[in-house]
Amino acid sequence: MDTNKAMVEHFQEAIRIKTDWPKGARAGDAVAEAPLLRFQDFLAAAYPHFNKDAERTVLSPYSVVYRWSGSAPSGNPILILAHYDVVPVEQEKWTVDPFGAEIKDGYIYGRGSLDMKSILVGVMEGAEALCVQGFRPREDVWFAFGGDEERSGLLGAYRAVQWFTGQKIHFSWILDEGTPIAVDMIKGIREPLALFGIEEKGYLSMDLVVRQKPGHASQPPAVQAVAVLGAALARLVKKPFPFTLSATMEEFFASLAPHAASKGMGWVMAHARFLGNIFFKAVAGTPSIAAMLHTTVAMTQLFGSAADNVMPSEARAVINLRLLSPWTVETALDFVRRAVADDRVEAGVHLEGFDPVPANPEHALRRGPGWQIMENALQKVFPGIPALPFLMVATTDSRHYKRLAGGIFRFNPFKLNSRELSLIHGHDERISLENLYGAAGFYRNVLEQL
Ligand SMILES: [Zn+2]
Repeated sequence: MDTNKAMVEHFQEAIRIKTDWPKGARAGDAVAEAPLLRFQDFLAAAYPHFNKDAERTVLSPYSVVYRWSGSAPSGNPILILAHYDVVPVEQEKWTVDPFGAEIKDGYIYGRGSLDMKSILVGVMEGAEALCVQGFRPREDVWFAFGGDEERSGLLGAYRAVQWFTGQKIHFSWILDEGTPIAVDMIKGIREPLALFGIEEKGYLSMDLVVRQKPGHASQPPAVQAVAVLGAALARLVKKPFPFTLSATMEEFFASLAPHAASKGMGWVMAHARFLGNIFFKAVAGTPSIAAMLHTTVAMTQLFGSAADNVMPSEARAVINLRLLSPWTVETALDFVRRAVADDRVEAGVHLEGFDPVPANPEHALRRGPGWQIMENALQKVFPGIPALPFLMVATTDSRHYKRLAGGIFRFNPFKLNSRELSLIHGHDERISLENLYGAAGFYRNVLEQL
């Protein structure tokens, strides 16, 4: 069978396995876990040569690991990460069946088509094709696929990390999902740019709470909890986290400069560090760029009383922070408490937070473990597209692995414009056939070099 045709069929099969987690289901729920197990079985059945050459370990419904043993390993194993769970759908907002894998106008539709069954299938197609040819990598290549990335990765990736740690395995570098080949995403840049996410922001949600005696709204106290909280939030807005230019973003802007639409814009990008505050002021108004340059604070939830005529016993706000290294959960908590500057406001962690994952400093200079391999694969499949170091502002499973690797790449080998990018987790999520083929070519090329 034509390899592209087989790939499309495998991909459709993958989409049709409903791996969205049912609302309210808990770990151990056999009905909820059945599709995750079915997905693991699908990987075993669809890729028989790879499953013969590589050793499979099923850790749980949420985690399956493969080891493809190298012919001459130098003690620098590589790890490829992916997840097979998907986010839920609002079925009525789709124009097609979200789990039907329908092909229309050069696109395959379905939940998970971009995030990230396309990548998982691309990796497996690449590995299977190499196994069919009798290829074997020099280094040990590991694959770890998780089934709960969209919820927390605590049952999948986290468990796999414990397993690898128990075996004292340390990876030279890791490749996970991440930022794409951006087409017309950055204003004034027309050429596509491959964004290698070498650094990841941390995550912290905080509760800000002000308590008071509940009572009847006809006799309000002189000082009201909601007003105290409101004033605290207003102070926080006035005191944003300071802007900093990380090594990753300095190299990003410097590499972007020659592609800028105007000479003036290019000069500004190339001299970002020299310009300092002038540069920050110039770009601070663009949220997508500002997010790359400081820890952001998003005010997401507010709670008061349940009735219009009852004083609340507490006023509570939830704020969501994305931490730019070197800020950590601890130092960011402290910063917010100082900015709020009011003992009546209790500020604490909402659920749990994660510190950022800094870049391997070599990667910020476009070298270091794996960089050349990634760059070679990119040039082979997408000739002429430059690779730029980039900061991932969302979280990935790879954060659980930060102590186990010399460096992490977060990259989706797809060309996506801003409209296609907005389909991730959205309605009518779809991937072009061209992108699906490209992804398989990219991973095959990466694996071939290992
Ligand atoms: Zn994902």
